Amino acid sequence: MIFFFVGGVNQQVSQVLKSGAGRCINCGSRADLVEYEKVLKVFFVPVWKWPGKEPLMHCNNCNLFFPPALSKSGCRFCDRVVDPEFRFCPFCGSAL
Ligand SMILES: [Zn+2]
Ligand SMILES: [Zn+2]
Repeated sequence: MIFFFVGGVNQQVSQVLKSGAGRCINCGSRADLVEYEKVLKVFFVPVWKWPGKEPLMHCNNCNLFFPPALSKSGCRFCDRVVDPEFRFCPFCGSAL
């Protein structure tokens, strides 16, 4: 289809559900849980939008979308799962 030579489908955040809900799997900064939508662009003009099925994690730093299951917000030092709100790991006391 000719569409795909002149445009493309982009994902963009439509609503932030939970800010700082996890960590980016790529760069390690805080990532938000978001609703997203897909936008079809032709010649850089959005022509069609449709909502994503499930919330995704989105990193503002590197603009990456990834499934929440991949965001193991865990301690880098002892590798245990830690609530992302915590500033210190309750298991080993490391600063997160
Ligand atoms: Zn990132
Ligand atoms: Zn730890």
